[in-house]
Amino acid sequence: MTTPGAPPAAGSLVHNYDPLRVTIATAQGPWVTDVAGHRYLDLLSAYSALTFGHRHPLLVDAATRQLGRLTLTSRAFGHDLLHPFADALAELVGPLTTGGRDALVLPMNTGAEAVETAVKAARKWGYEVKGVPPDEATIVVGSGNFHGRTTTIVSFSDDADARRGFGPYTPGFRVVPFGDAAAVAAAIDGTTVAVLLEPVQGESGVVVPPDDYWPTLRATTAERDVLLVADEIQSGLARTGTTLACELWGVQPDLVTLGKALGGGIVPVSAVVGRRDVLEVLTPGTHGSTFGGNPLACAVGLAVVELLASGEPQARARELGAVLHPRLARMVADDLLDDARGVGLWAGLDLDPARGTGRDLCEALLARGVLAKDTHGSTIRLAPPAVISVNELETALSALEDALSALAEAR
Ligand SMILES: *Cc1c(COP(=O)(O)O)cnc(C)c1O
Repeated sequence: MTTPGAPPAAGSLVHNYDPLRVTIATAQGPWVTDVAGHRYLDLLSAYSALTFGHRHPLLVDAATRQLGRLTLTSRAFGHDLLHPFADALAELVGPLTTGGRDALVLPMNTGAEAVETAVKAARKWGYEVKGVPPDEATIVVGSGNFHGRTTTIVSFSDDADARRGFGPYTPGFRVVPFGDAAAVAAAIDGTTVAVLLEPVQGESGVVVPPDDYWPTLRATTAERDVLLVADEIQSGLARTGTTLACELWGVQPDLVTLGKALGGGIVPVSAVVGRRDVLEVLTPGTHGSTFGGNPLACAVGLAVVELLASGEPQARARELGAVLHPRLARMVADDLLDDARGVGLWAGLDLDPARGTGRDLCEALLARGVLAKDTHGSTIRLAPPAVISVNELETALSALEDALSALAEAR
């Protein structure tokens, strides 16, 4: 979507984004500084890729040391961090899946590639293990989903901007209303290999499903021999106050996709983690990536896993969430917002559309030294880095209150 009245794209860059008018030059922790020297608190954290803040010292150190040693081998050869990274990630996340201590890890680069990997593994498992007739596999997904931008993934998006103009679409996906476990059960038949969902929908505006949704899906999929695949690319790795959002409901998915924060805000790192009997259907020649699991990615990913293994970022997200949500609830009670929802250090806010768009609110925040981004219409998402201090978060929330009051008065 473009903003009415926005100037046309200048220069050589394709206009496939419509960014806020801020040009960032440097950053540290929760702070960024633009080319003119203005400082802003970053409440977007690159859609959770910066959950550990900008230039986290331990992560920058791991990357810098690796840059001085080895950066790329391709998977044609081995390198000395590939197995340590896979083992560490399997140890952290495996037990949170049905793969348990025996879980496998497949490293890729971007989130969309991790989702594609999960789709390919689920289909191949369906044909080779479950016995689905060739080329008939189906995967059930949720309305309002966001899983990335490849042609297969946009094939099952219901966002017209993301989808229109990119057909013909990949068949084999069934879209059912998000949050409705009965609709998932009704969409499953003998061809169904997987149910693929975000535990909490990020791009849709931080939509938290009913508490019985994931436990019911877990029971249904186990009973019908269907894989439960959680796309934790945005929700995972501390954002919701737990390592995986699925932990909030005590649910172990069969496969999880990880990305964003796994790269520590330094390099793209993604992975699929989960059941050995599913992921081992991918054999040499069937799937891969030149850069997947490269030494620099593994060095950073390993340092990220070490940070998470301490439990500290998850605890910080819970503590900061306990500051964030009551203040947002007060803004709703004070009629500054129509709605606020979320979990952990993650919130979706709905502004009364009569007072402005999400974009208007983000511009009002920008003018007050806070960076955030609209998702759709009058909804914006807050995903502060877990390294923000309580004082800094309070400062940003005061700026939000002030921006909302200004929009209410200007009405
Ligand atoms: C961002 C995101 C993706 C895609 O990740 P990219 O690295 O942009 O390809 C997939 N799934 C979810 C839930 C996401 O938030």
